[in-house]
Amino acid sequence: MTLAPDQSSIDLAARLDVHATRSEVVRAAPISPSLWELTLRGAASLLAGQPGNDVMLSLQGEKRLLRRRYSVRSVDEENDTLTLWMSTRHVGPGATFVQQCSPGDQIDLVGPRGKILLDPLADWHLFVGDTCALGAFYRMAQSIEPPGRAIFIVEVDEPDDALTASFREGLGITGVFVNRDGRPPGDPTGVLRGLAAFSFPADTGQAYLFGEFSTMNVARMALMDRGLSAEQISFKAFWRAGQANQDQGEPARD
Ligand SMILES: Cc1cc2nc3c(=O)[nH]c(=O)nc-3n(C[C@H](O)[C@H](O)[C@H](O)COP(=O)(O)OP(=O)(O)OC[C@H]3O[C@@H](n4cnc5c(N)ncnc54)[C@H](O)[C@@H]3O)c2cc1C
Repeated sequence: MTLAPDQSSIDLAARLDVHATRSEVVRAAPISPSLWELTLRGAASLLAGQPGNDVMLSLQGEKRLLRRRYSVRSVDEENDTLTLWMSTRHVGPGATFVQQCSPGDQIDLVGPRGKILLDPLADWHLFVGDTCALGAFYRMAQSIEPPGRAIFIVEVDEPDDALTASFREGLGITGVFVNRDGRPPGDPTGVLRGLAAFSFPADTGQAYLFGEFSTMNVARMALMDRGLSAEQISFKAFWRAGQANQDQGEPARD
């Protein structure tokens, strides 16, 4: 029997004008050295929103309940399930949950969250980030109408984290995966190398930067140096090297 969500989740969802539900774990399994896929059942379409949206998971921290945000990778309306691709490269309540949960476990979800969606007017879409952004990037790119172009510049922790996906026929797809090669989190060298290796198409594009706080800030500057305007860059820090995300799921911004 699925229980009602906790009152704190209901209150949060009401404040954000989104949905709260208690979802059931259907499956959790590794899909690469650094990513697990979590499949959850319950109010999936309501929570999943649009490509680019994420959900907040309610998790037990050391001392209190806290929330972590994960982009929706896919939604299956028929089976009322959604999937998340969750990084397990580090130790934290989110990473621990996905590796320890079992089918039938229940967890509160609040969503859909997030304001960055695909720009439907862009001719090309540049996705820049790290392993934990792959789920968001692939869901967004799978919604691009042909003829469009998606370019992925993603720093992966291990070569086998360079997961692939299938896209609509008629799309131009370019993937540049840069191996982290043991560089510490927050080192922008890999992402900058990936950007340097690529010439941007001439027509109008939109860049989406999802990843580690400092690295994404450096990537944003690099893109502006190469002529992209601030409006052409959709930026979201997903995590921050050396610091746990705050209890509401966001990395600190100072
Ligand atoms: C809008 C949004 C969408 C997101 N979507 C996804 C997603 O689809 N998939 C996903 O995996 N993550 C996603 N994230 C990032 C995820 O929420 C953070 O990585 C979060 O810190 C994980 O929580 P945790 O409890 O496991 O670790 P925390 O308790 O937050 O952190 C513990 C330690 O781990 C480090 N750490 C945290 N994340 C990483 C990482 N990815 N790689 C290396 N070290 C890390 C921290 O620096 C800290 O030292 C998203 C974040 C936001 C804000």
